Amino acid sequence: MRRKIVVGNWKMNNTIAESETLAAEVVAALGENFSGCEVGIAPTFLALEAAGRIIEGSEVQLVAQNCHYDNDGAFTGEVSARMLFAAGCSSVIIGHSERRQYFGETNATVNLRTKKALSEGLNVILCVGETLAERESGVTDSIISSQVREGLDGISDISAIVIAYEPVWAIGTGKTASSAQAEEVHLHIRTLVTELYGDTAAQAIRIQYGGSVKPSNAVELFAMPNIDGGLIGGASLNAADFAAIIKAASL
Ligand code: PEP
Repeated sequence: MRRKIVVGNWKMNNTIAESETLAAEVVAALGENFSGCEVGIAPTFLALEAAGRIIEGSEVQLVAQNCHYDNDGAFTGEVSARMLFAAGCSSVIIGHSERRQYFGETNATVNLRTKKALSEGLNVILCVGETLAERESGVTDSIISSQVREGLDGISDISAIVIAYEPVWAIGTGKTASSAQAEEVHLHIRTLVTELYGDTAAQAIRIQYGGSVKPSNAVELFAMPNIDGGLIGGASLNAADFAAIIKAASL
């Protein structure tokens, strides 16, 4: 039985003080002795340390939104996996569609970042997803396959990896993939992982869904057999909504 995982991607939102407030609200909303599913929050780099102090001792894990593929050096504006681990992060999101769309991220750089993060002791949330044009032209499966194959290229142990399926057309748009549409792609990903890593690894890997998940659609999405939780953008900025989504993953 896979333990579901719900992570809030705060993107470029919240000052340090606002991040502290939201982190405290999330911890309070979950209550004491929470153990329903795995939970993480991903504040901006700037707020990681402060949010980390707030969630210390709780079930909530600290997640970063990206990392570089080198340890240190002349990479202005970047942050390395080594630094994130030292700052208390347990995981990092890699290959989010906004990184791919606005910052030139490719399957090759996603692969480099993933390898570096794993080697520095971080878990990785590897994001994949098709655009609306790709879906409409019927190439969703092949796009997802190349993102998974190339993202995992040369990685033999995937036990510290979660895959997040996030259709680009559903991110921040209010359009959610139906539970059937999402399940179809999740099953495709699990089948591909079986082909690449065998049945045991494929049954163990968690595949999150992301794209306009809200309290109102979370129960139905998380009830699908191959959907193992969610990567939550907009709704994670409100502690009550985020807690309701976490509850839906804990049923
Ligand atoms: C995301 O950015 O990972 C995401 C899923 O965003 P939203 O929930 O706002 O669609």
